[in-house]
Amino acid sequence: MKESILHYIWQQKLFFSQQLKTTEGEPVQVIDVGKLNTDGGPDFFNAKVKIGDTLWAGNIEIHTVSGDWYKHNHHLNRAYDSVVLHVVKTADAKIYRNDGEKIPQLELKYPPEIEKNYEALLQGKKWIPCSAKIADVPALFIHSWKNALLAERLVQKTDFIAHLLQENKQHWEEAFYISLARSFGFSTNSQAFEMLAKSLSVEILGKHKANLFQIEALLFGQSGLLPVASADSYCEQLKKEYAFLKAKYHLQPIDGSQWKLLRLRPDNFPHVRLAQFAAIVHSSSKLFSKIIEFPTLEYLTQLIQCEPSEYWKTHYLFAETSAEKTKKLGQASMFSLLINSIIPFIFSYADHKGNDALKEIALGLLEKIPAEQNAIVTGWRALGMEIANAYDSQAFLQLKKCYCDDKNCLRCRIGHKVLTKKV
Ligand code: SF4
Repeated sequence: MKESILHYIWQQKLFFSQQLKTTEGEPVQVIDVGKLNTDGGPDFFNAKVKIGDTLWAGNIEIHTVSGDWYKHNHHLNRAYDSVVLHVVKTADAKIYRNDGEKIPQLELKYPPEIEKNYEALLQGKKWIPCSAKIADVPALFIHSWKNALLAERLVQKTDFIAHLLQENKQHWEEAFYISLARSFGFSTNSQAFEMLAKSLSVEILGKHKANLFQIEALLFGQSGLLPVASADSYCEQLKKEYAFLKAKYHLQPIDGSQWKLLRLRPDNFPHVRLAQFAAIVHSSSKLFSKIIEFPTLEYLTQLIQCEPSEYWKTHYLFAETSAEKTKKLGQASMFSLLINSIIPFIFSYADHKGNDALKEIALGLLEKIPAEQNAIVTGWRALGMEIANAYDSQAFLQLKKCYCDDKNCLRCRIGHKVLTKKV
C-alpha cells in the first residue's frame, strides 16, 4: 500500500472521525489536519489535535506501519521531536522521540472503497486509468476542474515566459520574438528556430523591417541553410546580401545541420517556415506591442498570415522549383501559434501588469479558436468529454500530461470523485 493514499485520506478528512482513539485508548479529536509538507521533516505541519483533555498543536507523521518510524530513523532526527501524533494504518510497534518520550499513535480507519479504487487506478492499464468511471462524474464538476487546469497550464507557460524575460533583460519584444520563432519550429525544428532567434536580435531585424529581402537574407543566412554551392540567382543574391549584413553586425550563423526535414511534409520544411517568419517580421518590427494593442482574433490572424516573398510561391527548398502555391500559414498552424505562443504571452503580460481585463481577453481568445485535433483530444471525446474549443482542448491536454500520465489521481479533482465512489 502506498503511503500517499494515507496522506490523502488525512488531508481530505476522509477517515471515520467519530470515536477516534489512540492505540492506548485515549479519545482523539482532529481539529485541524495541518498543512501538507512536501519537503523534508514531518508530513503535516501545524496540526491541532485533542488527545484526552489536552489540546496539542504540532506536526503529524504518517506511515503505513509504526515500524517505519525506526526504518526512516525518525527516532534519531530532532526534526521529528515536534510530532504530536503518529498516524498509521497498522500500529505494530510503540514509538519514541529522540529524548525517549512516547508518541501517541492513531490507527486510521476509513471507507474501504478508497483504497480499492486507488489500487484500481494505479493498476489500470487503460489510456485514462479512470475511464470506466469518469462518465459518472457530474459535468458541472468537470467544468470547474477544466477552468483550474487551463489556469494551471497558462501559469506553467507564464513560468517559461518569465525565464525568457529574465534571459533577455525583461525585453518583452525580444522574448516574444524568440518564443514565436520557437513555435514556428512546430516541435521538429523548435530548437533550431530558437537558436536562430537567439543568434539574431529583434533589434537588428527591426532596422531592416522595410526590406523583406534583407530580412530573408538575415534569417536564411543565420540559419546556416543557404547552400554553399551555386544555386539560383535569388539564392546567390541572398548570399551576397547576407555576407554584407553578417560583416556589418558581426554575426555568427548557427549550424545548418540542426534543421530536420526528414518525415516532414513540404509545407513544414524549415525553408518555408523561415520565409513565413520573415514575412511576419517584415509586417511589423514591434510585433509584441501590436498584439497587446489589438488583441482580437481577426487582427492576430491577419498579422501572422502574411504572404512570403514571390520566390517561395514556387519553392519549398532553394533551387528546386515546384508547382505554384501560396505559402501562407495554414489554419491549423496559425491556431497552433496562437495557442502556444501568442495567447500565453498576452496572458503573461496581463498577469505581469495586473491587468485582469486583458487576462479575460486572452482566455476569451482561446474560446474562439477551434479545439486542436490530436490523439489526446480524440481520446477524451471518446470518453464523452465535451471539447468545444481550444480552451477545452488545452485543459484536457494538461489533465492527460500532468495528471493521468503520472497517475497523479490524488491531486486530480476527478480522482477525488472516483476514489470516494462506493464499489
Ligand atoms: S488523473 Fe484524474 S482523470 Fe486522470 S486517471 Fe486519474 S482520476 Fe482519472
